[in-house]
Amino acid sequence: MLAEIKGLNEECGIFGVWGHPDASQLTYYGLHSLQHRGQEGTGIVVSDGNTLKGKKGEGLVTEIFTADTIKELHGNAAIGHVRYATAGGGGYENVQPLLFHSQTGSLALAHNGNLVNANSLKHQLETQGSIFQTSSDSEVLAHLIRRSGFPQIKDQVKNALSMLKGAYAYLIMTETELMAALDPHGLRPLSLGCLGDAYVLASETCAFDVIGAEYIRDIEPGELLIINDNGITSERFAHSSTKAICMMEYVYFSRPDSNIHGINVHTARKNMGKRLAIEAPFDADVVTGVPDSSISAAIGYAEASGIPYEMGLIKNKYVGRTFIQPSQSLREQGVKMKLSAVRGVVEGKRVVMVDDSIVRGTTSRRIVNMLKEAGATEVHVVISSPPIKNPCFYGIDTSSKEELIASDKTVEEIRQIIGADTLTFLSLEGMAAAITQTEGLNGFCLGCFTGNYPTEIYPDTLQYYYQRG
Ligand code: SF4
Repeated sequence: MLAEIKGLNEECGIFGVWGHPDASQLTYYGLHSLQHRGQEGTGIVVSDGNTLKGKKGEGLVTEIFTADTIKELHGNAAIGHVRYATAGGGGYENVQPLLFHSQTGSLALAHNGNLVNANSLKHQLETQGSIFQTSSDSEVLAHLIRRSGFPQIKDQVKNALSMLKGAYAYLIMTETELMAALDPHGLRPLSLGCLGDAYVLASETCAFDVIGAEYIRDIEPGELLIINDNGITSERFAHSSTKAICMMEYVYFSRPDSNIHGINVHTARKNMGKRLAIEAPFDADVVTGVPDSSISAAIGYAEASGIPYEMGLIKNKYVGRTFIQPSQSLREQGVKMKLSAVRGVVEGKRVVMVDDSIVRGTTSRRIVNMLKEAGATEVHVVISSPPIKNPCFYGIDTSSKEELIASDKTVEEIRQIIGADTLTFLSLEGMAAAITQTEGLNGFCLGCFTGNYPTEIYPDTLQYYYQRG
């Protein structure tokens, strides 16, 4: 589904390079392939071995960087970030990487995720004299590192990381080192690759493919990876208790050509579609998927059910962020910018419409209506994940609980609201089995589906989430 109309947004993507003369250019390409993870701001910081230098701005990677600005960012190491702003809000100062200069040297950091104890740590740090540059939760780590009494940066970072709670994949760079850290539950993806003698790190492996890098492995929960001129070392700052990879990375966020912990996202989605065909079989004429993220599941449904897959819905790829959105009255007249139903495909047909999730329900209602207006005689909506009933505290903007249609409505009530002939959600077990090919729910965060979160949720975080929206 289309993130911008759905109300379900990833918050960030990170990318890093160590030991390559074109570090900033590689980071530019890497960030471009991670653009789906955040479109509101981007930045790159490079190290030439002596100093850190950066450029950032609010906008897309192609809007912020030019060939000239990339050329100015010379150095053999770089980290970069793409951001979707929720925690801490938007604004230039919150665009990452965050860059800090002090008497003891410089430090840059890029964060994907959300810290659930950021407010209490911030309060504590401010009481001790810290002054924050941003309203982003990510900055807390820099203050904790600088306040740690350990002489070596590695120990400072380990000590600081051990105080954080929540979801974090961090890239941390000094003049002479690049570090990568993943939270003890491994909520967000972070992979290591190589390009010749250089090392690369990325939120998703699709960023390796675009620069011709080779995947080595995923960063482990609770691991701190340190790369410098002496090579690469791995340390632990926490012992992983339970691995809890964000299920929505597989369902919706990550690119289908990415692999997370060795599992290809397209294949996982396709398997979800196959499971749906078993859990929700229909006598229908065509299967269609809501572009882009539901296409893989729709192909799986079609393959398993024997009903042909057709392109019943088309996305207009050229509706950018600056496009003038139709006013309410024009929307009501049916001005449909982002998605259209293909009359020639759906007219007179019984359609199985596959989507990855339902958040507020407003988009699903519009799409069902669109298919019916185009002549579909029946629309059976099948969703390749269970109902989202709870907010996410780990860096995904799932809207406040009040906005989540499934938080207080039954499947039948939702069906009536979206106007579908039938509505079926994939079971939790079916979704997990589609990914792992085994039974059981271990290894995943399922918080937004079940309300059981892998970490403690702090009262100030809860208050923030339940007040907004
Ligand atoms: S609560 Fe949902 S969206 Fe958030 S990390 Fe867990 S599975 Fe992912």
